[in-house]
Amino acid sequence: MGSPLVLLDVDGVLNPFQRPHRGYKRHRCSPNGVTYKLWLDAGHGRMLLDLAESAGAELAWASYWCDEANTWIGPRVGLPELPYVPIPRFPGIADAGTLGAWKARHVAAWVERRPFVWFEDEPDAADRIAAEPGIGDHLLVAVEPDSGLTGRHIELARTWLGDLAGRSGPSQQPQQPEQPQQ
Ligand SMILES: [Mg+2]
Repeated sequence: MGSPLVLLDVDGVLNPFQRPHRGYKRHRCSPNGVTYKLWLDAGHGRMLLDLAESAGAELAWASYWCDEANTWIGPRVGLPELPYVPIPRFPGIADAGTLGAWKARHVAAWVERRPFVWFEDEPDAADRIAAEPGIGDHLLVAVEPDSGLTGRHIELARTWLGDLAGRSGPSQQPQQPEQPQQ
């Protein structure tokens, strides 16, 4: 089992569909020459980096933005360049079922058996990822797309990652020297 991953969706997670509070600013992002208007919160990066650091986890994108997230999203929310799940363009319901099923298939292939937390707003993603063969320990944190990622979601992830570390064997903390016998 490798170190845990923390997977990030963009639309509906870092980019909520409604502007929820003043921390968000409007940004124009133009991957491949197509302009999208996004709400992004510059405070999200710090929250996510703190989470990953405290849990010994690795952040990665799990979004249709793929590597474009490193160009257009990361710098605006305070995240460094991150690895990403390669998710091809959705081929349509007839070939792939739902968006959640399509993403889950590619997430499962990419994470292999590493444990992971996934911040995601697709409503069926939890069921779809759980049904993928060979999937390891995971927590899908369902995000409400109108309001996006909040501190409550981060704390759910932090608790789960802490429990995971407890299940994974002895602590990596250095041993305290024994007290000399009196
Ligand atoms: Mg989404």
